[in-house]
Amino acid sequence: MKDRAVQFVCTQCGRIETKWLGRCPDCGSWNSFEEEMATPPSQKMGKAAVIDTKTSPVFLKDINIDPGFRFETGISELDRVLGGGVMRGSSILLGGEPGIGKSTLMLQMIEKCSLGKSVLYVSGEESPSQVKLRAERLGLSLEKISIFCDTRIEILANVLEKTKPDVVVIDSLQTLSSSEVPSPAGSVNQIRCCSTELVGLSKQLGISLFLIGHVTKEGVLAGPKVIEHLVDTVLYFDQAGSGVRLIRAAKNRFGSIDEIGIFHMSDKGLIAVTNPTSFFITEREGENTPPGIVYTAVIEGTRTFLVEIQALTIPAKSGFSRVYSDRIDNARVNRVAAVLERHAGIRLNDQDIYVNVAGGMKISEVSVELPLALALWSAVQGVSLPSKLLAFGELSLSGEVRNVSFSEKREKAAGELGFSRVLVPKTTVLGGVLEVSRCNTLKEAVQVCSKMV
Ligand SMILES: [Zn+2]
Repeated sequence: MKDRAVQFVCTQCGRIETKWLGRCPDCGSWNSFEEEMATPPSQKMGKAAVIDTKTSPVFLKDINIDPGFRFETGISELDRVLGGGVMRGSSILLGGEPGIGKSTLMLQMIEKCSLGKSVLYVSGEESPSQVKLRAERLGLSLEKISIFCDTRIEILANVLEKTKPDVVVIDSLQTLSSSEVPSPAGSVNQIRCCSTELVGLSKQLGISLFLIGHVTKEGVLAGPKVIEHLVDTVLYFDQAGSGVRLIRAAKNRFGSIDEIGIFHMSDKGLIAVTNPTSFFITEREGENTPPGIVYTAVIEGTRTFLVEIQALTIPAKSGFSRVYSDRIDNARVNRVAAVLERHAGIRLNDQDIYVNVAGGMKISEVSVELPLALALWSAVQGVSLPSKLLAFGELSLSGEVRNVSFSEKREKAAGELGFSRVLVPKTTVLGGVLEVSRCNTLKEAVQVCSKMV
């Protein structure tokens, strides 16, 4: 007789191993592996593949696109991240830490949708009265929102088949359970099985399905990562600064993943930040910024944001230099510091380096390298730069400063916010909005800045 097939699954990312491991080699979580029975390939799926022989290839030109295939949720920042609205029959995973505002956002969205569509809010986290109280607190119209508080998948599937709502929110993924799976709700097996069922059902019935998934650091619950491959779109909800929430797509079958949505948390729920260009900048008085601060313009999707890079250096505590940077990748900060040390002669190897971006935006654009280098230089030297100056450019390891894309767009956005001067690589083409200083190398950039102060 064969042994029962047992496998171990990482509850955070879904990696499968034959043996228990203390640390997941994929996502780095500790104690995240849980034992489960290896499930044989789903019989349902096999059958569907065999029965469904009616379909045959068609020419793309013969396909009619239904204009109602994508609809707007009415929450502008959410629609932006989704790529212009929700596709009918698509499944969207919304992940984030507990308490960040996922349920609030979904409740607000479902109210907007309920004006023209049939909607259903499925809550396994809160009772109907709790949801009602929350909706009232947010000042939502309760008229057309239906709620269902049973998260047993068999019952839920039955309800969906009968009522066929246009939009369904599941709050949350981790409360779903199927009687066919022996493990408890929130385990990898349950989450995977129930999500597969729901995603399949929503495709079949044309339901736009939103799945809320909690991301817990302790790993008590399996994370939303284990079903990322099942859904069409994966959104993550993040906290950035106090009261600011960013929503970002990690995967989007129907649009780009470059756009971010920005919300402000208030007692009336999440409010879309409609003019976010200046959102991440601190208002300051005076001609100069404090040492260690440099402004730059970054592009996220179709929008330009002005942001403030902050750097602080202090003599290293532990004998060797360390970098503490949440918002810009540590490796990038290390590399920029190395270039600054080698090519501009600024000694940093005995300093601890702290880097931050005001407002909490994470920046992965290369254009941040020149302003980051200048912020480090300004911090080490203790010099202030003009407060109407911004800089952008990429650094090479040889200390040259390179062009970045969308320079005119960045210049224009800065001009609109009252910036008067820009420091850019020599060959950058600009629109003549700002007074321009140019540099070929980081050394030149530092010289130009030294003359400004
Ligand atoms: Zn893992």
